[in-house]
Amino acid sequence: MKTSKLVIFTLLPVFLILSSCQASVVEVKGSEFLLDTIVELTLYGRNHDTQNMLDEIFGMIKDYEQKYSRYIPESEIAAINSNPHREIVVSEDTMEMLEKSLHFSAISDGLFDISIGTLVDLWDINGDNPHVPSAGDIASALERVDYRKIILNQARNTIMLSDDGMKLDTGAVAKGFITDKLVSYLQEKEVESALLNLGGNLYLLGSKTDGSAWKIGIRNPYGLQGEYLGTVSVRNMSVVTSGIYERFFEENQEIYHHILNPKTGYPENNQLASVSILSPSSLLADGFSTTVFLLGLEAGMDLVEKTEHVEAIMITRDKTVHISQGIKNGDIPFQVTNNEFTVME
Ligand code: ADP
Ligand code: MG
Repeated sequence: MKTSKLVIFTLLPVFLILSSCQASVVEVKGSEFLLDTIVELTLYGRNHDTQNMLDEIFGMIKDYEQKYSRYIPESEIAAINSNPHREIVVSEDTMEMLEKSLHFSAISDGLFDISIGTLVDLWDINGDNPHVPSAGDIASALERVDYRKIILNQARNTIMLSDDGMKLDTGAVAKGFITDKLVSYLQEKEVESALLNLGGNLYLLGSKTDGSAWKIGIRNPYGLQGEYLGTVSVRNMSVVTSGIYERFFEENQEIYHHILNPKTGYPENNQLASVSILSPSSLLADGFSTTVFLLGLEAGMDLVEKTEHVEAIMITRDKTVHISQGIKNGDIPFQVTNNEFTVME
């Protein structure tokens, strides 16, 4: 979320009165560069408040960005990061997000770890100068990563880092967390149908206006942007993917992507190319997509199978598609459309 990199996309409200039988359904769309990515929101409503609601939820995302971006000096995360050993009072939302992040660390034995900021900065994969760091630099950055040193005090609403040089990075959970908040707002307002896309972190609210399920493409990790290997049909569901192709750089013919293993200090290099998680909770989908990716195919699938309301589509580097039980049994319809990929039965 480096402000220097901010490209401001103009908000383009589009009113489209859909004809056909839903004469009164209004489609309202907007797109802006926020949370270091492109945020595209589409609401379908039955009244003229729909545009106001769209403005409102863009405003909510901006407010959350002000709290969570570690690159905004006034943010709550920046305050925690720049004041080690001090208890920093945070909002209820921040407390909730960090508490849930620590849960992902606990279930992955620390493979998922939001205290990874120093290591992320060292690699600079999202920045202007990505490079493979020296082994010595990786070793010292790793000493600054340990979720057990993030101290939450619910009674006092404070968070403290008990280590100098440790930096929180909420990149793996913030989009999901924020999405759930937007969904709650839209449900309160009785919006029946919406498509929220926070840089590929998707939420499909309700059904399409004709009553059918949303059909969502699962990205081909080896294809170009917008190329899919198959589709899922969902309602009231978040679909989030973590993969080797999202953010990466190349050095000496090697690909280095942005999901880092806090034990080795390097991008996780297992047999997975991507993990898509489907869940009614976008936070769970976002947190799990990263966690399951780090755990790898077998341990990752085991975790998915023992967790309620979570399904997974995992693509291995040999172009095999591994799906969880709820997809196998058709609860969530999934179709492979690219015959280079084979589904593992
Ligand atoms: P995206 O940001 O593309 O949605 P992810 O949700 O998988 O992808 O999050 C990746 C981001 O999470 C990285 O860019 C980095 O900021 C952060 N991150 C990298 N490795 C880890 C890790 N082991 N645990 C927690 N967060 C991580
Ligand atoms: Mg994630």
